[in-house]
This record gives sequence, C-alpha cells and structure tokens, in this order.
Amino acid sequence: MPTRQPTRAPGGRAECFDVLDPATGEPFDEAPDHDPDTLDAVVDAAHVAWREWRSDPATRTGALLAAADDVEAAGADLAPLLTREQGKPLSESYAEVARTAARLRYFAELDPGSQPITDGRPVRSEIRWRPLGPVAAIVPWNFPLQLASAKFAPALAAGNTVVLKPSPCTPLATRLLGSVLSSALPEDVLTIVTGGEPLGARLASHPGIRHVTFTGSIPTGRAVAESAAASLTRATLELGGNDAAVLLEDVDVERVADRLFWAAFRNCGQVCMAVKRVYAPARIYSRVVEALAHRARTVVVGSGLDPVSELGPVNNADQLARVERYTAQALSDGGRAAAGGHRLDRPGYFFAPTILADVPSTSRVVTEEQFGPVLPVLPYTSVDEAVEAANGTGFGLGGSVWGTDLDRAEAIADRLECGTAWINHHAELSLAQPFAGVKESGVGVAGGPWGLYGNLRPFVVHRPDRPEEA
Ligand code: NAD
Repeated sequence: MPTRQPTRAPGGRAECFDVLDPATGEPFDEAPDHDPDTLDAVVDAAHVAWREWRSDPATRTGALLAAADDVEAAGADLAPLLTREQGKPLSESYAEVARTAARLRYFAELDPGSQPITDGRPVRSEIRWRPLGPVAAIVPWNFPLQLASAKFAPALAAGNTVVLKPSPCTPLATRLLGSVLSSALPEDVLTIVTGGEPLGARLASHPGIRHVTFTGSIPTGRAVAESAAASLTRATLELGGNDAAVLLEDVDVERVADRLFWAAFRNCGQVCMAVKRVYAPARIYSRVVEALAHRARTVVVGSGLDPVSELGPVNNADQLARVERYTAQALSDGGRAAAGGHRLDRPGYFFAPTILADVPSTSRVVTEEQFGPVLPVLPYTSVDEAVEAANGTGFGLGGSVWGTDLDRAEAIADRLECGTAWINHHAELSLAQPFAGVKESGVGVAGGPWGLYGNLRPFVVHRPDRPEEA
C-alpha cells in the first residue's frame, strides 16, 4: 500500500483514494478525495481569477503558448505516469502528451474576431465575443490528458477559467499536468479536483459554473444534462459511440486489414470513435473475419510500460466485466470467437483481442457500446441493408466506408448518420474540424473554431450608421 502523505484538497479535507495500475490490478499511488463542499471555494476563486484572465487576449495567448512548451518538455514525466494509471502503451502516452501540447497551441492562436451584421438597415451592428466565466470540465479515463485539453484549451483561450475533474481511474497524470501548467498559468485559472461521486454531479450543478463541458458515457451525460439544467447552465456533451465500418465488395481486404484492426483496437478499443461493428459483404465475409482474427491472434498484449506491447490492459475492473459480459452473451446468442473471447490468465485487467463472427444483430455487443478489445463482424447482402444497419442504433459519433472506388465509397459514406465519416480510415481527427455526435452521441459542437465559440457568448453592439440619426 502507498505510504505517501495525503495531499490537501483545495481548502478542504485531506483524504485520499487509491489509484490502481490496470496491468497489475494493484494500487500504486493515491490522489486527493476532494470533498464536494470545497467546490464553493474553488468556484469562487475561479471567478476572482477570471476578472484578470479575461481582460487581455495577448497575455492569454502568450501564457497558453508557454504552457504548450512546458507540456512538451514534461513528456518524459507525464507519459509513463499516464501509462501506469491508464494502461496504454508508452508510445501512445507520448503521442497523447504531444496532442495535448498541440491543442494548447492551436487554441492559443485562434481569434474569435468580431463580425459585422449586414441586413440593409441604417445601423452599424457588430458581434463581439465575450467569455462566459468559470467552466466545469468533466472527462473520462480513456484519454485523460487529450480530452482534458480538448476542454480547457478552448475554454481558457476564450478567456474563461476552468475547474477540471478527471475520472477517479486516472487522476494522477492530470494532476501532474496541472502542476506543469501552473508555471505558465496564473493561480486559480485552472483548478483540478479529484474524487468519486458526487463530486462531478455537484460540479455540474454548481450555480457559479457558466458552462459544463462533459465527455463520457451516455447515461452519465444524461445525468450531467439534468444537473446543469438545475441552474440553467449551458452544457456541451460528447458521449458514447458505436461506430460502424462498412466494407464494400471492392475492398482490398488484406491491404486494409491492419488499418481496420487498429481503428477498432487502439487503446484496447477504449476510444469513443473506435470501429465497434464491421459490416462485410457476405461474399467476402469469411476472408474479412479471418484477416482480422489473424491480426488479433498475433498482436502483442502486455503492460504498456513494456516496449514490445502493442495493446495494454483494459483500464478498470468494471470495464473488463462489461467486456466479458457482452462477449459471453454474444457467444450464447450463437456467435463464434474467431479469435480470443476470454480474459487472459494473468494478473491485471487483460482481455484477449477478440473477433466475433456470426453474432445476431440484436446481441448487445452490436447494439451497445462494448468499449473494449472485442469486435463483431456482421455479413450483409445489399449496401442499403448495411447502411440501414449502420444507422440503426441510437448512436451517431462516426462511421466509415472501405473500398477501392473512392467516389462510390464517398457516396455511401454521405448516407451515414454521424458527425464524421471516413473513407478507408477511421477516427482520424483534425484539430481544425468540428466534432459533434448526432442522436445520443452528443449535444453541441467541440473542436476547431466551433469549440472556441462554444466557450463564448455573442455580444451585439448596434449604433446608428450616420451622426444625424443619433
Ligand atoms: P463515465 O460517463 O462513467 O464518466 C465520465 C466522467 O464523469 C468521469 O470523470 C466520472 O467520474 C464523471 N461522473 C460520473 N458520474 C457523474 C455524475 N453523475 N455527474 C457528473 N460527472 C459524473 O465515462 P467513462 O466510463 O469514464 O468513459 C467511457 C465513456 O466515455 C464511453 O461511453 C466513451 O464512448 C465516452 N467517450 C466519449 C468521447 C467523445 O468525445 N464523444 C470521448 C471519450 C470517451
């Protein structure tokens, strides 16, 4: 058990909770369990810090660019800690740190500008953009740093202050990130609170918060929307996905198999926009299943700290239990494990990379989000049937179409009901693009300039066009 002294919560009690290493299932450190009652003081301090932070865009840009350099320089400290608590291979943790720095730079240099309103009336009208105040950012455990930066970079660049709550499964790298950022950012501009519920619910419903930006599961997103509604606070929700990949008859199976495999299994399948269902034409179905199963059987699974590991463990015991449950149900529904299908017999939360064939389309691994290293492959006989199946869930985050005729593939991708569709790729996002799930996958738009405007309010000034009309 850890012997480290508890860290004092901001203005509150000093209790800690264990943080587990998913590669062993054992605690390796602890984080402060912040008392929700301390949020009043935290949000008050964020309001005070906001007065200065909102006033000078040039100072903000300088601070955020310096912060990006500091994050990059701290990669060798941040990445191993991230792998230790999250499980992903070290190279992916380094990539996550790099994306965190890149996001800070991108938003630091984005200017909302002001826009004239031209409607023919003899007035000069202009939209100017104003920050909102303290923003609550609540994030999950799959990309703790990257998703936190997707919240705080645009919010801070827009002139808001931020109270950030990471998942209790992954609080440590975020706390270290906070201390790295504290060199460049003034005090209380970004505060990190850690702990279990009801901390998030209290933060989302706090009357001093002006915007709640949440990434996580659909059920929690619903609870967050309800909390925010209590104080009529703006809420942006980035929620779960169940992305379909539709393979066309002219797909070069062997050529795309590796890319398709990693689109589903990167970060052990714990990616909101992972491929979570594959639809393959019946004529090439067995080839697709076998190509993916071959990759699943040969991938190296192990601790993320071991440089040979290509896949780490599932992040936590609850998630592992969910993956096991969905897989067991798919097998009892008549499915077949072409690869994997079981936990690995070793300490930690390891699950064999699993390709499921012949699963009925009603099985939960198809209709819900498995969020783990398990991929069902389903046959189809007509493209219309495949598109209907791809669109046939309550999710709508991303989707992809794979084939050699790019025009045809694009025409089919255009029919997918989701926020982003790819051809022959999946889940590759640009910092400059809007990120918006449809149906239950999200409310509001993040990413690119839209992410900045989501943290601003329009303020319109009208004045007469000519002095004699004044
Ligand atoms: P989760 O919904 O369980 O938790 C997310 C965060 O909310 C955590 O910090 C958690 O502590 C907090 N929380 C829990 N209950 C709360 C409450 N009542 N009020 C406020 N906050 C509360 O999600 P998870 O298991 O950590 O992450 C996995 C989910 O996140 C998956 O569904 C995945 O698809 C989704 N996700 C979505 C995106 C996206 O951009 N759309 C990105 C990554 C992950």
